[in-house]
Amino acid sequence: MAEIEREAMEYDVVIVGAGPAGLSAAIRLKQLDADLNVVVLEKGSEVGAHILSGAVLDPCGLDALIPDWKEKGAPLNVPVHEDNFYMLGEAGKIRIPNFPMPPLMNNHGNYIVSMGNVCRWMAEQAEELGVEIFPGMACSELVYGENGEVKGVVAGVFGLEPDGSYGPQTEPGMELHGKYVFLSEGVRGSLSKEVIAKYDLSAGKEPQKYGVGMKEIWEIDPAKHKEGTVTHTMGWPLGSNAGGGSFIYHLENNQVYVGFVVHLNYKNPHLYPYMEFQRFKHHPMVAELLKGGKRVAYGARAITEGGWQSMPKLVAPGVALLGCSAGMVNVPRIKGNHNAMLSGKAAAEAAYDAIKADRSGDELTAYETDVRDGAIGDDLKKVRNVKPMWSKWGLLPSLALGGLDMWTNTLGFSLFGTMGHGKNDALSTEEASKHQPIDYPKPDGTLSFDRLTNVSFAMTNHEESQPCHLKLADPEIPVKVNLPKFDEPAQRYCPAGVYEMVEDDGEPRFVINFQNCVHCKTCDIKDPSQNITWTTPQGGDGPNYPNM
Ligand SMILES: Cc1cc2nc3c(=O)[nH]c(=O)nc-3n(C[C@H](O)[C@H](O)[C@H](O)COP(=O)(O)OP(=O)(O)OC[C@H]3O[C@@H](n4cnc5c(N)ncnc54)[C@H](O)[C@@H]3O)c2cc1C
Repeated sequence: MAEIEREAMEYDVVIVGAGPAGLSAAIRLKQLDADLNVVVLEKGSEVGAHILSGAVLDPCGLDALIPDWKEKGAPLNVPVHEDNFYMLGEAGKIRIPNFPMPPLMNNHGNYIVSMGNVCRWMAEQAEELGVEIFPGMACSELVYGENGEVKGVVAGVFGLEPDGSYGPQTEPGMELHGKYVFLSEGVRGSLSKEVIAKYDLSAGKEPQKYGVGMKEIWEIDPAKHKEGTVTHTMGWPLGSNAGGGSFIYHLENNQVYVGFVVHLNYKNPHLYPYMEFQRFKHHPMVAELLKGGKRVAYGARAITEGGWQSMPKLVAPGVALLGCSAGMVNVPRIKGNHNAMLSGKAAAEAAYDAIKADRSGDELTAYETDVRDGAIGDDLKKVRNVKPMWSKWGLLPSLALGGLDMWTNTLGFSLFGTMGHGKNDALSTEEASKHQPIDYPKPDGTLSFDRLTNVSFAMTNHEESQPCHLKLADPEIPVKVNLPKFDEPAQRYCPAGVYEMVEDDGEPRFVINFQNCVHCKTCDIKDPSQNITWTTPQGGDGPNYPNM
């Protein structure tokens, strides 16, 4: 194929992803020097379209970045004023009192927000400072310089032929070059994955761990709505089948975020995370809350859970990993947005100093130091053993010992050192023959919904004529390996129903309905044969979340 010619544009800093990490970096760069040229590229049709968090926001990141965010009208309108934590059985519940919890678990001072709206507001702040933001521009490739450094990205390739080749309608996109490139793609970023592998940034670290988070927005009976209330549950329906739990956050306008996270290190390939979520809503406590209400939106996204010991090296020549591209979620707090913002700020400060010193294309080591020795490291280190304890010993022992460890870490020491995570999530999956199938009740269409109906509430859209963005390294593996060994779990772990096993003349065939994809990245993480690679489809495709 002839070499593709693209125009190139030069910037000081190129930022991939308009989430809280990328937007914070952009804002901070322009605060430091209004003359810096900063561009943010976002694959969603608009800023916020692909953002999915809980979200209870710890405002410490925003405080550091834009101290007068209140005066500037940031959409942090609902302070948390009630914090509940329950252990669920099938029909009952036990309230876990707040007083034995370490102070870091307290949500006092935090806000229930739509992170989509927070990002939209941050984008306005960035644009006022002169940042160029291009939504609908997926960054599909990295551009390397002569010395092997990252010098830019390719963005805006549209209209590829179904086989991936260039046709008469193909727009080849452009190269955006920067003195530094920031990857703030969020969890399991496709370019971040390439950079981590190329520069071996995870050497000596524990494997990254993940959960899949699913979330619905409900409008409920105003009589039951308690603005500012945060509820977390554990236990039923997952029991000992998997780690995870739920969140229920009452935001404004009689709306409630109802969400469920399943840790992806589960062993039983028959487990069906989406159906666990649907089943959860039939618990009497939840069913009573939602009765008479209606579900107005649905979405899903993986969440990083490896924490401190899984965070890769953050810098390589010309490039830095920000926020959840590197995995900065505090797992017991289920919070990563504050660290994403702090990391954006830190990366911007390091790049500003470097550019002022006439540097480019090298490693921003000052950023790495800031993250590890500063507020982010402090936040993540204290909770580093909670996830490995849960994986190793199960829910109840990890609640007690994890609580103890968080307390002692708050005081400056740990009895457990730094525990490892063991296998990655793909390899945690065991053969189907070792496990019982799980019988899930059929959704009732009122409280619980079948997957495809719910996916229509993610408003996801992909141009059908483009190539499938979910690539199989070996197309035979689903039928020849995954089906006999693992009952092809892609049929179940995907929260958007992308993967199906159908029969043609009695022969099984694997079907990929990529049009349904909500960009959660679970397949890239959980496929037991590690055969699926999520690549970015053309810009503007994917979910169109309202106020997730
Ligand atoms: C179910 C769930 C509940 C959560 N609850 C909370 C909570 O209550 N509080 C909290 O603080 N945190 C919560 N988190 C964690 C939080 O969402 C993350 O820590 C946070 O989103 C990380 O921010 P980020 O900017 O790194 O990435 P993201 O917010 O994921 O943003 C990345 C952006 O980059 C874009 N992008 C990715 N790749 C490309 C590409 N190649 N080209 C162009 N654009 C690209 C994406 O479309 C997206 O807009 C939750 C996460 C989940 C999944």
